[in-house]
Amino acid sequence: MKPACKNCAKEHETTFGGANRCGFHGSIKEQINHMKKEYIWMFILSGIVLFPNIYFTFYGKQTVTTALLLFGCSCLFYLLPTLFLRKRIFFIIQGLFVLLAPFEAAHIYLNRMPATSAFLLSIIDTNQDESFELLSAIKFPIVILFLLWAFYFFIAFVKISNTYFFQSNKIKLTALFVFTGMIVTGYSTGWNKEIYPYDLILRTYQVFVAKKEINEGKKIMRNFKFEAVKKDPIDEKEVYVFVIGETGRYDSYSINGYNRNTSPMLAKTKNLISYTDFYSEANITTSSLPIILTRSSAQDYERSYVEKSFVDAFKEAGFKTYWIADQSANNKFIRRIARDTDKEYFHIVNFNDTTNLDEQLWPSLDEVLAGNDRKTLIVLHTLGSHFRYNYRYPPQFEIFKPSLKGAFDYALISAKNKELFINTYDNSILYTDFFLAKTIQKIDSLHAISALIYVADHGENLFDTKENIVFHGGSDYTPYDFHVPFFVWTSDQYNLQYPSKVENLRQNKDERLTTHHIFYSILDVANITFPGQILSESIASETLQGDSVRYLINTNMETEKGF
Ligand SMILES: [Zn+2]
Repeated sequence: MKPACKNCAKEHETTFGGANRCGFHGSIKEQINHMKKEYIWMFILSGIVLFPNIYFTFYGKQTVTTALLLFGCSCLFYLLPTLFLRKRIFFIIQGLFVLLAPFEAAHIYLNRMPATSAFLLSIIDTNQDESFELLSAIKFPIVILFLLWAFYFFIAFVKISNTYFFQSNKIKLTALFVFTGMIVTGYSTGWNKEIYPYDLILRTYQVFVAKKEINEGKKIMRNFKFEAVKKDPIDEKEVYVFVIGETGRYDSYSINGYNRNTSPMLAKTKNLISYTDFYSEANITTSSLPIILTRSSAQDYERSYVEKSFVDAFKEAGFKTYWIADQSANNKFIRRIARDTDKEYFHIVNFNDTTNLDEQLWPSLDEVLAGNDRKTLIVLHTLGSHFRYNYRYPPQFEIFKPSLKGAFDYALISAKNKELFINTYDNSILYTDFFLAKTIQKIDSLHAISALIYVADHGENLFDTKENIVFHGGSDYTPYDFHVPFFVWTSDQYNLQYPSKVENLRQNKDERLTTHHIFYSILDVANITFPGQILSESIASETLQGDSVRYLINTNMETEKGF
């Protein structure tokens, strides 16, 4: 029997250096050539593993220096296991990241930032049907990915020998010392959060912790009760409507001082109050909604895992509740609330054309308003100014031109096209103005004791700052991510019934506020109370305390001081 090769365990007749070595027998030259070939293969495999990182270095938002520093760190971190692992084992383990790479690359492509926890959570939370739909839509990249994966492992098994990278313990110890120093420095500067592929491990771990907490919370929530009651059991018909807007910028409304006439109808709407200093506590939909709908806040976010929403509290107080939406059908948090209402309506058609306009919610709203309920709460969850803005309004609202047209090419995302973005966005606000004013008219025509509260889930950047940030939900956010329109409208009948609340609502319009006030406020507006009510959190109360410090929850679900 031939002796086994020390490099790859295959049988060879080898004589190099007196030891048994694979393939290249005899001459030192040949042996070196063999090593060179192996290093070329290792270089190619490393390129595949680090692809998202290389992509980020060239395409990310950061400065060249930061990009190179991060890339250098990533390479060092990537190489760390080479101290302890055999070459082949090393590449097999790193190969697992090749599977995760598409998520990271997709996020970089869309946001020019590494993947965030919120992004990973949204992938995990997307329901099965939609995942399959998504997968079939991107068949081609998936086939490429699998071919790449097969190629990667083939090379790792066939071309990479199963020897150690370093033999000398001295080298290993020195390198380990340097690495440890770097890890400590990295942690203290926060770089660890951006070093691929370890950032992905950290994010995935965070997502699983959150999922676990949510699942455990479900059991507690099932038996949760606010013990909410209507303070004055008046007999009159009462209708409260809560409208959740999408991607609304405070500064883009003419009633808030914008120099373009984007909200002509709301400007003419009687009894409407616009709040001037109202901020969302999150800059993405999925994190913002729990703070809007439950007692949770940026500082106490986990509360939304165990407590119900104000919609549930209205139900406890004897109201009929309705959820009418053209978005978030796959959001589990939303679906739980909607399912527990008296009736839910989800109208979701294609987001990528003008068939998903918010006015499609009106037939369901009309149906509910035409019913005989004495006490009603209706939530309208709209698509507002969700990207792509040009699909959010019909042709007659194309007033500000030139605007974006049709399917959107991501290559257009550039400060050069700022005007195009702003025009299109403003058209979508003009449409939201129409939608809200018409919705108020519908409710007003009932002559009931009624109120409508509108808030946008978060804002939007339109190349406002010198960093030329656009959209929302980035980790380098601006006040435009958070400053949102917040409107309260009350009917004449409401004003007669609750004059002091109306007075307080007007008095408080310039208070420094955030979305966590909504829970306490809307119950107070409807004159519902419960043992946990804190009137100093309610905008309808004369004891309202504004926020001295505003907090926010960032896209990695960490609490930070806000604006
Ligand atoms: Zn949103």
